[in-house]
Amino acid sequence: MAKADFYELLGVSKTADEKELKSAFRKMAMKYHPDKNPDDKEAEKKFKEINEAYETLKDPQKRAAYDRFGHAAFEQGGMGGGSPFGGGGQGFAGGGFSDIFEDIFGEMMGGGRGRRPSGGRERGADLRYNMEISLEEAYAGKTAQIRVPTTISCDVCNGSGAKPGTKPTTCPTCQGAGRVRAAQGFFSIERTCPTCQGRGQTITDPCTKCHGHGRIQEERSLSVNIPAGIEDGTRIRLTGEGEAGLRGGPAGDLYIFMSVKPHQFFQREGADLYCSVPVSMTTAALGGKFDVTTLDGTKSRVTIPEGTQTGKQFRLKGKGMPIMRSNQTGDLYIQIMIETPQKLTKRQRELLQEFDQISSKENNPESSGFFAKMKEFFE
Ligand SMILES: [Zn+2]
Ligand SMILES: [Zn+2]
Repeated sequence: MAKADFYELLGVSKTADEKELKSAFRKMAMKYHPDKNPDDKEAEKKFKEINEAYETLKDPQKRAAYDRFGHAAFEQGGMGGGSPFGGGGQGFAGGGFSDIFEDIFGEMMGGGRGRRPSGGRERGADLRYNMEISLEEAYAGKTAQIRVPTTISCDVCNGSGAKPGTKPTTCPTCQGAGRVRAAQGFFSIERTCPTCQGRGQTITDPCTKCHGHGRIQEERSLSVNIPAGIEDGTRIRLTGEGEAGLRGGPAGDLYIFMSVKPHQFFQREGADLYCSVPVSMTTAALGGKFDVTTLDGTKSRVTIPEGTQTGKQFRLKGKGMPIMRSNQTGDLYIQIMIETPQKLTKRQRELLQEFDQISSKENNPESSGFFAKMKEFFE
């Protein structure tokens, strides 16, 4: 069945403007709306067709394609409902065209990313800034002042690139459209204008400060808030702090890549910290106390009981790293590493030898039977 003409469906002429289209669509949509016509299949079908017609004609690019090729312009993809009243169905934007169509008309339909015929507006580039901080700074958080080389919109010409008092002139090649049309076999293809790069305007009297670029290089000073507990590898995004856009386009973003320097005493695992503490053999055997300075600058006392073995962990609750966006903190684990005495004097050696002679299996339960147990296991 032949499809009804979109203009006829809406009851408007082929020269109808945006306003006429909209009001015609409203009227027709009200008339055939399913809520007003319960269980009326004809009305429902008509309602969908009206939607489809309006979706096409309200978009200047789709309308141009429809005017030139009729329904054939959209046939291959299967369009779906695309009702402005919600509900399912994919509209045009969801990829209604076949790949071939996308190739040929991609640019014309505005499918070409970036360079839309919008006066050559371009989003500024994103910037990356690498920042290295200490674990103490990551613990406390800080406000850092950074200097970022970037481009900003020229203040003399307000980004237009034209000398103040003069105006950019309409591009003679494309007459301001930003695009030029070239016939290529059966198709007529539109391309970005080579003279003005899509701007639609050329500058005859360039601004002396920015030489017509509309942007100037500058080093900017920014203050960056680094939250307490930030982790190595975190990216902080400062929206709109990247390079200025071109000709009124939006600015890019600035990404701060954080790295946290390794600490001499503390190893970090998520919110927890680990600290390896060497303890003399005698302290480990007899028990003792020592103080650990934590990242908040205070001292915490650790008491180790008699007979503490190497590798034993003691937890200092809440002495780890703050957890971002919460008021919680991780823990600090003290790992005991027993140091064997070296460079013994004659007297020390005698005492240790005497100690060894009077040692029993109960003093060293792990080592005394170990080799016997191993031998047994492998035989
Ligand atoms: Zn300027
Ligand atoms: Zn041009």
